[in-house]
Amino acid sequence: MYEEGVPGEPQEGQTLVNIMDWTKVLPVVDDEPLDLLSSQILSYSRILDLRKGYLKRKLSWKTQTGKILDLEIIRLLSFSDQHTALISYQITPRNFSGGVTLYSLINGEVTNKHHLQGEKIFTQQEGIFLPEEYGYLMTQQLAHPSTLTACAVLNQLEGHQGFTGEEFHDDMMGYRFHLKLSRGEPFLLNKYCYLITSQDVPGDLVNLQAIAGVKRISRWGQLGLLNKQAEFLKAFWDRAHLELEGDPSLQQGIHYNLFQLLQSTGRDGKRAVAAKGLSGEFYEGHTFWDMEIYILPFFLYTWPQVARDLLLFRYQLLEKSRENARRFRDSGALFAWRTINGQEASSYFMGSSVQCHINAAVAYAIKAYHEVTEDDEFLVKWGGEILFETARYWAHRGYFSPRHGDSFVIHVVCGPDEYKPGVNNNCYTNYMAAFNLEYALAVASFLHTQYPEEYHRLREKMGLTDQELEKWQEAAQRMYRPFDEKKGIHPQDDSFLSKEILDVDSFTWEDIPLVRNWHPLVIWRYQVIKQADVILLMFLLGEVFTLQEKKANFDYYEPLTTHDSSLSPSIYSILASELGYHHYAAAYLRQTLRLDLDNYNGNTYQGLHMANMGSSWMVVTFGLAGMRNRHGTLCFNPSSPQDLSCYRFQVHFKGRTLQVTVREKGVTYLLFSGEPLSILHRGKRICLTCDPVTIS
Ligand code: BGC
Repeated sequence: MYEEGVPGEPQEGQTLVNIMDWTKVLPVVDDEPLDLLSSQILSYSRILDLRKGYLKRKLSWKTQTGKILDLEIIRLLSFSDQHTALISYQITPRNFSGGVTLYSLINGEVTNKHHLQGEKIFTQQEGIFLPEEYGYLMTQQLAHPSTLTACAVLNQLEGHQGFTGEEFHDDMMGYRFHLKLSRGEPFLLNKYCYLITSQDVPGDLVNLQAIAGVKRISRWGQLGLLNKQAEFLKAFWDRAHLELEGDPSLQQGIHYNLFQLLQSTGRDGKRAVAAKGLSGEFYEGHTFWDMEIYILPFFLYTWPQVARDLLLFRYQLLEKSRENARRFRDSGALFAWRTINGQEASSYFMGSSVQCHINAAVAYAIKAYHEVTEDDEFLVKWGGEILFETARYWAHRGYFSPRHGDSFVIHVVCGPDEYKPGVNNNCYTNYMAAFNLEYALAVASFLHTQYPEEYHRLREKMGLTDQELEKWQEAAQRMYRPFDEKKGIHPQDDSFLSKEILDVDSFTWEDIPLVRNWHPLVIWRYQVIKQADVILLMFLLGEVFTLQEKKANFDYYEPLTTHDSSLSPSIYSILASELGYHHYAAAYLRQTLRLDLDNYNGNTYQGLHMANMGSSWMVVTFGLAGMRNRHGTLCFNPSSPQDLSCYRFQVHFKGRTLQVTVREKGVTYLLFSGEPLSILHRGKRICLTCDPVTIS
């Protein structure tokens, strides 16, 4: 509902919904249920094991009747099989022998906590009991889009003295077990769960597949699942190897962030990664440009297949993005600012569709992907089409302005800095649009020579003409690239430098973040910046700008930036490293690596900041090690480790695996696998074969 709607506004929202809660296991002793908020807890610990991939809680509970129970609970969500979950619940009576009741349940009565609050999302819900192993199955029907979700559970119990189980069904369903416990003897419940939806298999197979699935995983047993998980994570950490020696808190921060990225990212081309991953309901599960600019690089250099899947997800949205461009009477395609299904899900165009730079972010990611993987198939089948449609968009979105000496200008946009929407010639947007146009042309010529038939077919399909390509060329060449001679900087947009300057350092917690505390009409009036904008450009298209220009822009924009968005400190850290501003680099690096663990922005309750998590990999590789991919060559310009004794990481590049170790006294490059690789170290060419090369 829009009170004051405008034509072409999105008519539907999209929200990631909470499905049935399969995690419920509840012990009851002498009619007293365990409740962590009110029960007497003698000791408690919770460990997220990043190497083994489970959450382990240990606690001792003293009941009102004086009985003490030691509980050890493992919760595992399988990485290798996305449908599989396990809870191992071990109870050991410390000072008594006797009966304990234990429930294993599914709660179907869940709602979302943020959007759709209290609304009944599922139109139908059914539960049945299974004949085997205290099993049960719950199915829920979502109306729109029509989706069936099923969760099948099997319970395996192990205890010396035995137990009985009975079916249980009120607002939750499951089993009630009566356990006979002996003092000091552990009793174990393994609750195996298998969740599947009609987005994975045809609707009439959902229940059958859930049941077959849970039987299969229960045969693997607890040990089997734990082993599979550990194996998966070993392979993951081998690929994503990254050490920060000398500061355990930074080391912990980055490992935590990478683990969360892994948990939250789709790996099937159908699901992507949302701004909060799967960790919270804010941003409603929507995917933003965060994915291409901040998250994809980590996967690209550690597990390129996932980067491909994410780009395939983008491709799935192309048709809807064409429709999105039509909303604004534009040609080509405009990717939705925030979306799950490709349609724009934002109801506020000044915070969303105005940020058309998302198109260039996708193009940028495609170029990076192709350079690192040399995967021509991707360009031929999907990448080319995305690039041509986004180039088409830019060519139509801007125009040759006589008042700007017939330069190509792009008006009424918002760059990454969301505090300046509706401006003309945002510097970031213009440069990135030119990049998008140029790269589309380069790919057109590549396909024309290397894959002429496929190229011809694509042009036919898209109705792409030579005149269009000429216009792209002209628009890119004559793109208006703002520069202020007097200040020697790149103005963020046409009006930015005329605005009044505020003293950002004088802001208090009552101001920050401005987005929550000041009306937009106040924020927009000043030279105050939410997040890296020109500075992001200086990083992404680094070869286009001189070091002097980067320095001048950093010096100008850094004091104006509030970093109200978590997409900001990392980029400042990366550029600060390049400029040798080690103090800034280190401070912004710490903020990036610890942002959620230390709740820096005070809003982690809303969910984790996935873009920031992705960029914590970037601050080490692109920042500290000064890694860049320049036209298909890996270049390094490492900073000394500063507060660390050493940093080390591994990257995958064109089928090779390269390890980089930086210590105070030198840098070592080691090619683990693949053909010899030529890299640049501080501008000097080095050919790496199988022997390590150390440079002091
Ligand atoms: C930032 C955007 C970002 C979004 C989702 C906003 O606060 O300004 O750049 O895409 O959050 O993370």
